[in-house]
Amino acid sequence: MPQYADFYRRSIEERDAFWAEQARLIDWHTPPQQVCDDSHPPFARWFVGGTTNLCHNAVDRHLKDRASQPALVAISTETDTERSYSFAELHAEVQRMAAVLRGLGVQKGDRVLIYMPMIAEAAFAMLACARIGALHSVVFGGFASGSLASRIEDAEPVAVVSADAGSRGGKVVPYKPLLDEAIQLSRHKPAAVLMVDRGLAPMALRAGRDHDWAALRARHLDTQVPCEWVDSTHPSYTLYTSGTTGKPKGVQRDTGGYAVALAASMKHIFDAEAGQTYFATSDIGWVVGHSYIIYGPLLAGMTTIMYEGLPTRPDAGVWWSIVEKYKVTHMFSAPTAVRVLKKQDPAYLARYDLSTLKALWLAGEPLDEPTAQWIAGALGRPVIDNYWQTETGWPILTLVNGVEKQAARFGSPGKAVYGYNVKLIDEATGEELRGANQKGVVAIEGPLPPGCMQTVWRDDARFVNTYWKSIPGRMVYSTFDWGIRDADGYFFILGRTDDVINVAGHRLGTREIEESIAAHPNIAEVAVVGVADALKGQVAMAFAVARDASGLVDEAARLKLEGEVMKQVDAQLGAVARPARVHFVTVLPKTRSGKLLRRALQAVAERRDPGDLTTMEDPAALQQVKDLVG
Ligand code: AMP
Repeated sequence: MPQYADFYRRSIEERDAFWAEQARLIDWHTPPQQVCDDSHPPFARWFVGGTTNLCHNAVDRHLKDRASQPALVAISTETDTERSYSFAELHAEVQRMAAVLRGLGVQKGDRVLIYMPMIAEAAFAMLACARIGALHSVVFGGFASGSLASRIEDAEPVAVVSADAGSRGGKVVPYKPLLDEAIQLSRHKPAAVLMVDRGLAPMALRAGRDHDWAALRARHLDTQVPCEWVDSTHPSYTLYTSGTTGKPKGVQRDTGGYAVALAASMKHIFDAEAGQTYFATSDIGWVVGHSYIIYGPLLAGMTTIMYEGLPTRPDAGVWWSIVEKYKVTHMFSAPTAVRVLKKQDPAYLARYDLSTLKALWLAGEPLDEPTAQWIAGALGRPVIDNYWQTETGWPILTLVNGVEKQAARFGSPGKAVYGYNVKLIDEATGEELRGANQKGVVAIEGPLPPGCMQTVWRDDARFVNTYWKSIPGRMVYSTFDWGIRDADGYFFILGRTDDVINVAGHRLGTREIEESIAAHPNIAEVAVVGVADALKGQVAMAFAVARDASGLVDEAARLKLEGEVMKQVDAQLGAVARPARVHFVTVLPKTRSGKLLRRALQAVAERRDPGDLTTMEDPAALQQVKDLVG
């Protein structure tokens, strides 16, 4: 039997023996008694009885062999700084942060919300939380006060760690006013706010609540904070992601299962070794940032690179200059970023010595063939697509090249990854589709492997109902993606089955955007759909009905209202969620029973055939959309 096929088979058929072996990749304070407790499906508890600590495994464990090796290199082309921390220095900084957080009242099990740009202190804060058994909840710095407020309210953090500002393309984005507004909007008020002052924007500290990191750090330069040994099933963090409702879901992950899953992925998927250098271009606000900027590479004893800035500034060679300078062996990015680079002069790539690079992994959105071909040709290295979700924390589909080198197929992220019992399911009947090239919902038979979400934060019912009950007659985990599998086991992802859209690799719920637009006083009704875009994969497009359309007499008036609506989304959710266009119509396409014909609307917005419209209430509705998109 070919090597990977056997490896995969063992992970499913001899699950416990397989994962017991993987569990040896990390340090345990107390070894686990049971590999997997799946006695209460769909919940799974991994490595039950074991106690461990993520920070110990990511940092302390490496002090013996590699204390002086760089652990974290934080590069900012926004502030023109490069800061490098060895494992010993990272260990010291994390303890200082842990001591400060403890001093602010943070205890085991408490939540700490981290709203930060891509600076080293963000990594210290995450690792410090793990160290003391607190849960971090990182919110992407591009989100604005409304998004932040709903996450503060749900996570109920004891403390918030933030910074004066982020910066993008040379433009400073002050964080403190957004944070203050979010706390004001939220029913929950964190007791303490810890601010890192980068000297980018003025910030007023509120007495009694706000604290300055530099001042508190200075008091704890030599404080030792030992790792808190926590149960394997102790939650390590929550990370919010969009779904079909306006309320984001707090994806909750455990400690031991996550550590094992990531350590195993570093070995088998990334074929990585201690001492090598990993550069993931994502942001700590996303799952890739958690798994492959912070925890995965550090667990493996690698140097990890954190990058603040654009891929094109000061020029389109900046990432490749980092690869050369730091001898990057593993690089992880998103197709959108590659499409941005593809528009630039290819000479930028040729200028640098990329010989250390083993491969480039891309994820977050479909990888189109021209993009894959261009970058593979330009780099002369394998380009490996991988498909996963915030919920799973590590790849579901890819080529597990550390076990056996396998050929890539354009358009396919690869085969089912070990541990994932991936099925294609007929959406209507719940039947498993076993034949080649049949389209179905990509589903995972429980229990989910280690590292995947444990539940939705404080909402077990939502976890069960959302993910495990969407397919009739079967309790399987739905990814909410359509897919097919060819005769050789390669999967192809064909888009979402729900109303989630993917803009430049960022996952957004159309409901959230709709709710934000509908809050504008002159918007009566709105529908947001994802429309195909050559650069970003998809963009959000809004079709709105004005409450009072009498003023919308000409293009200038429409543009004015469109501008106001966009500003509102910027202020509430952040620029990432801003629709590319807000078109005004007099009626939205609906069925006679009042249900929005979202798919038909999307089809017309993409200039496709909307299909069967016999249930549509007002045939003029789609004609307006057609006229608008041309
Ligand atoms: P997120 O939770 O933000 O990582 O988004 C996960 C979703 O992004 C998946 O459910 C897919 O719809 C999409 N996605 C992620 N990676 C890929 C990929 N390699 N190919 C196609 N779609 C992907």
